[in-house]
Amino acid sequence: MSSRYLRHLPIFLLLLALMGLSGFGAHRIAQQLGLSDLQATGLHRLDLYTASLEREIGKYAFLPGTLGLERDVLDLLKHPVDSKLTPQVNAYLEQLNERAGTLSIYVIDTAGHVVATSNWRRADSFLGEDLSFRPYFRDAIDSGSGRFFGIGTTRGEPGYYLASTLADDSRTLGVAVIKVSLEQLEKSWSTVEAPAMVTDENGVVILGSVADWKFTTLRPLDDATRRAFDQTQQYNRRALKPLGLKEIRELDHGARLVSISKTLPEIVSVYPVAGRFLAQARPLPGTPWTLTVLSHLEQVDEIAQSRATVAVVGAAFLFMLGLMLDERRRHLKDRLAAREALQQAHDELERKVEERTADLSAANHLLQDEIAERIRAERTLRAAQDELVQAGKLAVIGQLSTGIAHELNQPLAALRTLSGNGVRFLDRGDLATTRSNLERIAQLVDRMGRITGQLRAFARKSTGQLQPVALCHALDNALALLDPRLTQANAEIRRHCPLPEPFALCDANRLEQVLINLIGNALDAMHDQPAPCIELGCESVGQVARLSVRDHGPGLDEAALSHLFEPFFTTKEAGVGLGLGLAISAGIVRDFGGTLSGTNHPEGGALFTLDMPLCEAQNHE
Ligand code: ADP
Repeated sequence: MSSRYLRHLPIFLLLLALMGLSGFGAHRIAQQLGLSDLQATGLHRLDLYTASLEREIGKYAFLPGTLGLERDVLDLLKHPVDSKLTPQVNAYLEQLNERAGTLSIYVIDTAGHVVATSNWRRADSFLGEDLSFRPYFRDAIDSGSGRFFGIGTTRGEPGYYLASTLADDSRTLGVAVIKVSLEQLEKSWSTVEAPAMVTDENGVVILGSVADWKFTTLRPLDDATRRAFDQTQQYNRRALKPLGLKEIRELDHGARLVSISKTLPEIVSVYPVAGRFLAQARPLPGTPWTLTVLSHLEQVDEIAQSRATVAVVGAAFLFMLGLMLDERRRHLKDRLAAREALQQAHDELERKVEERTADLSAANHLLQDEIAERIRAERTLRAAQDELVQAGKLAVIGQLSTGIAHELNQPLAALRTLSGNGVRFLDRGDLATTRSNLERIAQLVDRMGRITGQLRAFARKSTGQLQPVALCHALDNALALLDPRLTQANAEIRRHCPLPEPFALCDANRLEQVLINLIGNALDAMHDQPAPCIELGCESVGQVARLSVRDHGPGLDEAALSHLFEPFFTTKEAGVGLGLGLAISAGIVRDFGGTLSGTNHPEGGALFTLDMPLCEAQNHE
């Protein structure tokens, strides 16, 4: 058996137990109810049948006594032997018998002999018969009246005997007897709805709605009783077979559950005559008889069985319904739990998201603070760099100042001479020479103005704003500022500038600062050469605007190559170089988005290359 079936086994067993219990319970209850219903109906029938029997018997009860009112009867009894009254009384009784519808009416003298009878005409007439052995006769003699059920001794006809003594004023003369046929009594039962029977004091069925029950016994008869029957000829030697009625159990109010076994051949009857019955009995007043009404349990059993079936099916249905409801409840519970779990997970997720959001916003704040800090630092750095660039520029200017001062000294001396000569020529009245001197003075002042103008332009603090710059023009500006030095050094400048000249996106002032630095370094490197030569190149390579400065000096040694752009790296004497020129220049070029590199030219001397983003806008000066 699979585990699935095993798991369901207790439920099946429970179902079976429930079905069994409810079936049994319903059967019991329905049977109880049915029985009490049946009992009530039975009692009702008992009342009804008793009343009708009483009525029927009561009709004849007074009849024997009325014979005492008849003079002839009494006279006959006084002198019964060979009385002339016999035919007269016989005729009277015959007539009465016919009128009353009884079986026979007869008169017995005190010795027990029939002196007159209604059936005097018949061959089997009672007339002259000795009936002193009949109990009703003896009872009547003893107590004034007698009642008896018995079977006729002559015709074997069963009947009910009612006897009354007949007496004159002083003594008992005899007994008047009326025999009533049982059929007459049974007539009142023609409409009974359930089998009923009347048993006499011996337990013999004398009246029954089922013909075959008649003269059966309800209880076994012992030999002594049978012998007594023989003597009284009560049942006229009928074989009194047992009915086969067995008591199952006793119920309330004198009712009993009994069973009647089936007899063969099958009895034909409108009622069920075998099976289980509810028997209710009651003594019939005025008689030693008992009236018993039998109600068959078939219907009760059927109802109980159908109720039990309904209960079993109902229990199974309820059980299934219960199982289904339980299943549904469990399903709902699971769903609820799942929903709760989902809700919890959702809440947890939401809580985490909130936490993370809080973390993120905190991180964001931190980041913003950091960015602000960085920006501040950048600005500070930028300002510091700007300051550094400016400082570097001032250093360059310092280096240039000697040459410029020398450059200015010459026109100043010339101005001194020209102005002194001018006064003298004016005194002499030589106006033409004076004018020529003044024109020369003006030219010199212009030249000095140009020099100081260039210096002032270079010295001004640059904003660092990027814009298109003509490279050859910037180169010329740098050369102009260096002019005194170049002249002093007797340097040769070889300048290669293509047309149209390339433009780079940069800051012109700072580019000039870089170029002055590079050219200055080149002059420094060749300071011991009588005719130094510097080659300046300008070209565009792809998207790059390139400027190059090459000298013919000793070139860059190992140490210089590895530390070229480091701040404070210098090979120059103290007071000549600070070692910041190339570091500042590289920073400036980096700000342009370009690169500055230094190497040795294959043919000797150092070569510095400056690459910057090429700019298309060539209409700028
Ligand atoms: P400074 O000129 O104050 O020394 P720089 O940063 O301009 O500072 O130069 C750093 C060093 O690089 C120089 O001291 C020099 O040794 C070397 N150098 C720069 N330019 C040249 C060059 N054209 N030829 C040889 N050495 C050079």
